[in-house]
Amino acid sequence: MAEDTIFDKILKKEIPCDTVYEDEAVLAFKDINPQAPVHIVAIPKKKVSGFDAISDLPADFTGRYMNGIRAAARQAGLTNGYRVVFNMGKDGQQTVDYLHAHILGGRELGWPPG
Ligand code: 5GP
Repeated sequence: MAEDTIFDKILKKEIPCDTVYEDEAVLAFKDINPQAPVHIVAIPKKKVSGFDAISDLPADFTGRYMNGIRAAARQAGLTNGYRVVFNMGKDGQQTVDYLHAHILGGRELGWPPG
């Protein structure tokens, strides 16, 4: 059994977070080290390790997770647009092995990313 990640612990309420949005499929909370004026992390309430494992989630659940990400962006007031990022693996700079979307906004973002 893999050890709990920081996001497992947040979901179990063993570690506090600043919740932005929550429903039966998603918990979205403020990133502790924001990279934009608005930086939210949105995790599914079923665990997989990262984007490569997304097909291990039931398809209907994945759809509800995606809708939850959109709802979190709306809740944060990102009416002018935003970016959704899934970092995957070493080259993708993933540091927490629990699938999560970054929602970034609150300013015009640069492209391409670094
Ligand atoms: P990754 O690099 O894996 O794509 O993203 C992990 C994100 O989780 C980082 O942006 C990091 O700042 C954030 N993070 C790490 N630990 C915590 C924590 O304890 N609380 C919150 N709210 N965010 C965290």
